[in-house]
Amino acid sequence: MASYEQNKLQLYNSLTGKKEVFKTINPGSVGMYVCGPTVYSNVHLGNCRTFISFDMIYRYLRHLGYKVRYVRNITDAGHLTDDADQGEDKISKKARLEQLEPMEVVQRYTIDFHNVMNKFNSLPPSIEPTATGHIVEQIEIIKTIIDKGFAYEKDGSVYFDVIKYNKQHHYGILSGRNIDDMIANTRELEGQTEKENAQDFALWKKASPAHIMRWPSPWGDGFPGWHLECTVMSSKYLGETFDLHGGGMDLKFPHHECEIAQGQAAHGHSPVNYWMHANMLTLNGKKMSKSTGNSILPEELFSGDNDFMQKSFAPSVVRFFMMQAHYRSVLDFSNDAILAAEKGFNRLVEALKIVKTLQSGASSTVDVHAWQKRAYAAMNDDFNTPILIAELFEATKLIHAIAEGKQTITEADLSILTTTMEAFFYDVLGLQDASAAAGEAASNHLDGAMKLVIDLRATARANRDFATSDKIRDDLAAAGIQLNDGPDGTSFTVQ
Ligand code: AMP
Ligand code: ZN
Repeated sequence: MASYEQNKLQLYNSLTGKKEVFKTINPGSVGMYVCGPTVYSNVHLGNCRTFISFDMIYRYLRHLGYKVRYVRNITDAGHLTDDADQGEDKISKKARLEQLEPMEVVQRYTIDFHNVMNKFNSLPPSIEPTATGHIVEQIEIIKTIIDKGFAYEKDGSVYFDVIKYNKQHHYGILSGRNIDDMIANTRELEGQTEKENAQDFALWKKASPAHIMRWPSPWGDGFPGWHLECTVMSSKYLGETFDLHGGGMDLKFPHHECEIAQGQAAHGHSPVNYWMHANMLTLNGKKMSKSTGNSILPEELFSGDNDFMQKSFAPSVVRFFMMQAHYRSVLDFSNDAILAAEKGFNRLVEALKIVKTLQSGASSTVDVHAWQKRAYAAMNDDFNTPILIAELFEATKLIHAIAEGKQTITEADLSILTTTMEAFFYDVLGLQDASAAAGEAASNHLDGAMKLVIDLRATARANRDFATSDKIRDDLAAAGIQLNDGPDGTSFTVQ
C-alpha cells in the first residue's frame, strides 16, 4: 500500500473554512499551483516564507508517495502598482526608473529569486511558466469569457462583469464577502468611470502610448490583467479543475477570488478543490512588505549585513525558524526568536550525528513505533510542523538517553528511529546539516571580506593610487579570485 493510502492527510481548505481529508482527482497524483513572485525587486524574507511553506507541503506530498505536478508561475507583466486596476505596471515602472528594458528587470529578479530559493534548499517546481509566455492563451480565454456574457469591452480594455457573474455564482465565496457589502464599502475612484461597476476587474488593459509592455489583441494594443495569468497557466498545465492552489493569505482577495470567477465563467466549473493560504511573516509586529520599507532581504540575514539582527544566520537556521510555526499562523521575526531557533537547530543536528553512533541492544525500552506514529500524525494534521519538530526534540531526548545507557534500543528500532529522523529533517522540512550550513556560512564570510577588499580598491582608485589598486587585483588573482569591473560596480569570481 502506498504511503499516502496509510496516511489520511487532512488539510485546511480556505474555501470551506474546515479541515478536510485530502482526496485527489486522480489516485496517487496531485496537481498543485502556487502563485509565484512578481519579479520587479528582490524577494524579501516574507515572500520567502510563503514559498518555503509550499515547498514543505510539496515535499511532504512527495514523501507520502504522491506524484506531484507543481506549477509556480513568474509574474512578469500585468501586476499594477494599485490592485484596483490603476497605476503603472510594477515591472515597467522599475524599468523606467532604472533605464532598463523590462525583460532585463525580469531576468535580474528571476535569477535572484532562484538563487535565494536555492539557498533555502527549496525544490524547483515542475513547471515555472511566465505571464508573457502565455499572452495568446490569455487573449483566447478573454474571448471565451466575453462570449459567455461575463465580460465587456470599453475603449480597448476588457472588464469582468462581477455583478452579472454574481447573479449566477457567488463572487466572494473564498474570502467570505458578499457583493452588497462590497458595493456599500466602495468609494468611486477617479479614473474608474470606464468600468460599469467599481467591483469589475480588468482582464485586458489598453496600453497608453507610453506603456512599453504591450501586445496586439482584438481590442487593440494592451496587456493582460494580473488575475488572468494564473487562471490560464493553471488550467493549461493542470486542467480546468485541479487539486490544490496556494499562495499567501494576502492573495485571497481579490486575486484568488477573481481566479475562481474567471475559471467558473470560462469553463463552467470551479477551478480548484482545495485552496491553501500561508500566513504572513511580520517584522516588529507589522507585515513584512517592500513598499513600506519594513522588510529584510535573505542575503542581508545570511551575511549579517542588516540593522535588525546581531549576527548572521545560515539559510537552514532561518528555514528551521519558519518551520517552528504553523504555516497558517502569523510569525514575527526577531533577534531573540532566530537565536532560539539556531540553538534548537543545532541540538537536532547534534542528535542526527549521535544517532549514527548508537549501539543497539537485545531489547528496546523506548517505543519508537508510537513516536513515529505521532510524528506522521502531526504532519497529517494540516502539515503541523511545530508539533513535528516537538516530536523531533522528543526523539533527541531518547537518543541522548540511549547514548548515556539509560535506555536501550534494538537494531530494527534504531533503524526506524534513524531513517524517520533523517526523512523528516532533510526530506520533509528541507533542512541541511551543519556542514552544508557551515559551507554556506563560509561563503557568506568570504562575501563580507571581499566587499571590504573591493571597497578599499575602489578608494585607492578614486585617490589615483593605482599601485595599491593593481596590487589588490593581482594578488587576489594569484590567490584564485578574479575581480570583474562592470557598470554596476565590481564583482568577484573564485577560479
Ligand atoms: P508578490 O511578489 O508581491 O506577488 O508576492 C509573492 C508572494 O509572497 C505572495 O504569495 C504573497 O502573498 C507573499 N507575501 C508577501 N508578503 C508576505 C509576508 N510578509 N509574509 C508572507 N508572505 C508574503
Ligand atoms: Zn496567482
